Amino acid sequence: YCGMVAIVGRPNVGKSTLLNEIIEQKVSITSRKPQTTRHRIMGIHTEGKHQAVYVDTPGLHVEEKRAINRLMNRAASSSIGDVELIIFVVEGTHWNEDDEMVLNKVRQSGKPVLMVMNKIDQVKDRDLVLPHMQLLGEKFDFVGIMPVSAKQGKNIDLIKAEVTKR
Ligand code: GDP
Ligand code: MG
Repeated sequence: YCGMVAIVGRPNVGKSTLLNEIIEQKVSITSRKPQTTRHRIMGIHTEGKHQAVYVDTPGLHVEEKRAINRLMNRAASSSIGDVELIIFVVEGTHWNEDDEMVLNKVRQSGKPVLMVMNKIDQVKDRDLVLPHMQLLGEKFDFVGIMPVSAKQGKNIDLIKAEVTKR
């Protein structure tokens, strides 16, 4: 396998933390403050004959009034055009209209989408996770849905395995 994978999601869901965790290097700045990633950051993960280029994107913004938001949306959208697979990141079991907007954009691309539920360490009621995953799985045609914690490095191997098996 050799290909490009875009990591997309609304601001602050943990995209940059996830990229750093996947490639085991701190290439992308992470921050509690939204909008820290303003450019496309790429990281390469090599495993045997498999090589994947992961592209961290600025978060997609619903608000397009500010020029910087428009610019970041454009950077994020153009990243999607180049890739074979899209990793769509959301925060735990939260799901809001910003996620919906990002997912709509992602689905317009017609590319396969892997959904990652990040920050699973922060989910208080673990019993909600499985039903939530099932619901989204029935509603959308994801290639997979994975609960992970980028911060704690949990289930990151699942993502890598899904990408390299393609
Ligand atoms: P981005 O805007 O999507 O790139 O988000 P960042 O990677 O910059 O992360 C935003 C904030 O969420 C930072 O404070 C991270 O430390 C935090 N964060 C990222 N992943 C996790 C996680 O799995 N668990 C928890 N508790 N916090 C996380
Ligand atoms: Mg970021």
